Amino acid sequence: MEKKLTFIFDSVSGNESFARNVVASFCLSLNPSVDEIIDIKTAVSEAVTNVIVHAYPEGVGKVKINVTLKNSRVYISVKDSGKGIECISKAIEPFFTTKADEERTGMGFTVMESFMDNVSVKNNKGKGVTVYMVKKILGTDKCETMA
Ligand code: ATP
Ligand code: MG
Repeated sequence: MEKKLTFIFDSVSGNESFARNVVASFCLSLNPSVDEIIDIKTAVSEAVTNVIVHAYPEGVGKVKINVTLKNSRVYISVKDSGKGIECISKAIEPFFTTKADEERTGMGFTVMESFMDNVSVKNNKGKGVTVYMVKKILGTDKCETMA
């Protein structure tokens, strides 16, 4: 069985917690563990924050999130139509940031990669970025409760 969710919102910081909580709630039907839900929230938060901080230097734009639940896996994409990334191979390196002056640490992509099973980035310079993330849900809390 497959379940899908799509939503679009403005790239303002007040929408970041909304977005991660919507995604987390939608994933609940896979019976994730508490740790898995925290991982998903953290990864979505980093991807959405990147759009808010980097994608639209002129102001506010749209963020589009797709979530698909299929075969105990969650597939998430976070898409913007902003300026794109200058050099993707540099951007995904730990500690690389173009906003060191604003106290960014350059760890967003590294965090996404460590909390999700797979992360890939589609980068269209001048047209936007889509971050794809996949996580298999094991739901170990359930087993612990039963033991
Ligand atoms: P941190 O996430 O630790 O606050 P950061 O956002 O700079 O810092 P990353 O999330 O790893 O670090 O992103 C690395 C760089 O990739 C950013 O500094 C920015 O230049 C670029 N980047 C990331 N996402 C986008 C995006 N959606 N649009 C444009 N540029 C982006
Ligand atoms: Mg970031």
